[in-house]
Amino acid sequence: MNSVRPQVVISQCIEGDAVRWDGGVIGSEFVARLKPHVDVIRVCPEIEIGLSVPRDPLRIIQEADQLRLIQPSTGLDFTVKMQSFTTSFLDGLPDVDGFILVHRSPTSALRDARIYPNRKLKVAHIGKGPGFFGRAVLERFPHLALEDVGRLRNSRIKAHFLTKLFVLTRFRHAQAGQMKDLIQFHTENKLLLKAYHQKEMRVLGRIVANPERKPLQELVANYQEHLFRALQRPPRCGSNINVLLNTLGYFSEQLTGPEKQFFLDSVEQYRAARLPLSVVINMLRLWQSKYQNRYLSNQTFFMPYPAPGLANHLFSLYDYTIGLHYSRRERNEPISQSW
Ligand code: SF4
Repeated sequence: MNSVRPQVVISQCIEGDAVRWDGGVIGSEFVARLKPHVDVIRVCPEIEIGLSVPRDPLRIIQEADQLRLIQPSTGLDFTVKMQSFTTSFLDGLPDVDGFILVHRSPTSALRDARIYPNRKLKVAHIGKGPGFFGRAVLERFPHLALEDVGRLRNSRIKAHFLTKLFVLTRFRHAQAGQMKDLIQFHTENKLLLKAYHQKEMRVLGRIVANPERKPLQELVANYQEHLFRALQRPPRCGSNINVLLNTLGYFSEQLTGPEKQFFLDSVEQYRAARLPLSVVINMLRLWQSKYQNRYLSNQTFFMPYPAPGLANHLFSLYDYTIGLHYSRRERNEPISQSW
C-alpha cells in the first residue's frame, strides 16, 4: 500500500510557475504538502495556446447559445485554440487519478468561472460554470478525484479528495494485476467502502465473489463502475459510526465493560460534533495493535492515505472539522466554501 503514488494533474500556477495572467503564482499549503507524495503533471492551457505572461485576462462570453473564450481587451477569440489544445492534452495523458485546478479561472475552473453576456469590458456576469479546460476534464474524467485549489481549503472536501485519490490509485494498480489483486483490494478497502456507500460495497463484494465465473476483464470493468459510484460523495457521520461500532465487535471478548462504555460515549460525542473522528479511530487502532487483529490492521478506513506525514497532518484537520460539519449536514448537502 505504501508504494502507490497517485498521478495528479495540477495547474502550473499552483505552487509552481508564475504563469497567471498577472504574473502571479497561487500558494497552497495543501498542494505543497501533497507534492512529495504524488507524481505531478503540470499544465497551463493558456500558456500552451501561445499567450504570454503577463497578459490581459480572458473571459467566457455567452454568444447566442454558445460559450466563447474571449480576450475582451483585444477582441481575440481563443475558443477553437483552447478546445483543440485541451483535446490533444487529455488524449495524450497517461492513466491519471486526479486533477487539482484553479477556481474562478475561465480556463481551468471546475465550476465557478464567471460567464458574461457580451464582450464589453464593463458588464456584470450572468452566471457561473466550468472553464474551457475544466469542463473538458469534467466530461472526460467525471469519476476521478477532481477539485479546485480553493475548495481544498475545506477540511472535509480535502479529506474526501485524498481518500478518493489514493483509493483510485490503489485500484489502478490492482486492476492491472490478477484476480487475487482485485480480491485483496476489495478486502483491504471493505470498511472504507462500507463507510462511503454500504449498498455499493455489497454490490462490489458480490462482483468479487464472482459466482458466475466471469472473465477478469469483465469483472474489473463492472467493479470499477460500482467503485466510482461508491466514491461519489464523502461518507456520512452515521455511516462512519456504523463502521466504528462494527469494528468494536472485533474486540468484544478482550475489552472490559468500562472500556466499551468509554468507547460508546466517545462515539456519541463524535456524533454530537464534540469529538473528532480521529480520536475514536485511534482507540480502535490502539486495540487493533494490542490484540493483533490482522484483518483490521490492513483496513484503509483507519489510514486512507498511505504517506504517514501527509495522513497525520490531514487527519487532525479533517477529523476535527468533519465532526462539526456532520452535526449540521447529516444528509451530505454541499458544504459552503470556506474562502
Ligand atoms: S489558472 Fe490555468 S490557465 Fe490560468 S495560469 Fe493557472 S494553469 Fe494557467
